[in-house]
Amino acid sequence: MKLKVPNEIRVGGHVYSIALSNDLKDSDCNAAVNHRLKVIVINTDRPESQKIEGLGHELIHIVNHVYNCNLEEDDVRRLSEGLFQVFSQLGIEVDWSAVPVKEWIFP
Ligand SMILES: [Zn+2]
Repeated sequence: MKLKVPNEIRVGGHVYSIALSNDLKDSDCNAAVNHRLKVIVINTDRPESQKIEGLGHELIHIVNHVYNCNLEEDDVRRLSEGLFQVFSQLGIEVDWSAVPVKEWIFP
């Protein structure tokens, strides 16, 4: 089953855009989120498994932020890796075709 990632996603009352970028290539991050800009950036320099886990990781950060769940970074890591493993086991693959590739300077 293919999961088509949209270029925008709503969490609570907030709309975050999603983009692929190599702006994070020199970092340890598979992805990053900026709550002020309402953007998730997926690191194009990573293998598919890390891109997918990174998207889930940043979505958990957004849910944590919007709903004030008080999760710590290690909690987010455990949840994103666990969900990624389950989705992989279910055979869910990701279609990135709706996600733009952008060259931006991530603040
Ligand atoms: Zn994180």
